[in-house]
Amino acid sequence: MSMVPESHPRYKSLLNRGKVVDAFESGVLAKGGLIAHGRGETYDYLIGETTPKVAKEAIKASAAMLMLAKNPVISVNGNSIALAKDELIDLAAELNGKIEVNLFYRTEAREQKIKELFEKNESNNENYKNNKITILGIDDANKQMPNVDHLRGKVSEAGIYTADVVLVPLEDGDRAEALIEMGKKVIAIDLNPLSRTAQKSTITIVDELTRCIPLIKEEIINLKKQNLSNEELNQITKFDNNKALNEILKLISDKLTNK
Ligand code: ATP
Ligand code: MG
Repeated sequence: MSMVPESHPRYKSLLNRGKVVDAFESGVLAKGGLIAHGRGETYDYLIGETTPKVAKEAIKASAAMLMLAKNPVISVNGNSIALAKDELIDLAAELNGKIEVNLFYRTEAREQKIKELFEKNESNNENYKNNKITILGIDDANKQMPNVDHLRGKVSEAGIYTADVVLVPLEDGDRAEALIEMGKKVIAIDLNPLSRTAQKSTITIVDELTRCIPLIKEEIINLKKQNLSNEELNQITKFDNNKALNEILKLISDKLTNK
């Protein structure tokens, strides 16, 4: 990865940019993923490159929803693996360990690259080493989601196909919609409050992926410590997504008009 001095005012952003460029060069990320990242950067500027208060509320509701789920699955694509593979593994380890690879541009070469990356697990993630994690969606993607074209709709039976709650960082709108139509609860992480994904999902966390994944994990740990009943957790899941998205739009609009 190219060297970025830590003192650089845009250190975190440049580091993430370096990660997506590296992932593209190693074949993990498709070209379109670079463009998606750029769109995300723009919205991150507009929300002030910090986790907005309303996103913190979405994170808490999501944590409770994931804890209550019978079969929660974290769906990952090239961008999310490039940016936050280890953080996603650590989050999955607090749940049932299920991570499903679901690529927008699915090719066997990319699937194998991603598989190797998880297996090799360069950073020697403890949770991965302790077999807490199951990677789905590569060798076992033999179910088809309705209303999504063939390759993009291939999912694992033990994973997304039977999941009741799916966490989807950087999902495409039509798949998010199809998951909702399948009766699932969808938690999206998407910096763009206007995207179809953000608008269709059950809960949308409008925050940058690498900032919010550790916050979801911390919130789950925090809620576990409180030994809450299912009823209490259920209360925490109540979240008005439309209202939250409008609050983000107001935040952006105030920023643009210097309020
Ligand atoms: P949709 O299909 O939902 O209407 P879109 O077509 O505008 O959205 P896609 O290219 O399908 O967008 O998905 C990329 C989305 O991921 C964008 O909305 C972008 O804002 C978001 N995004 C990109 N990078 C990040 C990141 N690091 N953290 C969170 N969101 C991100
Ligand atoms: Mg899209």
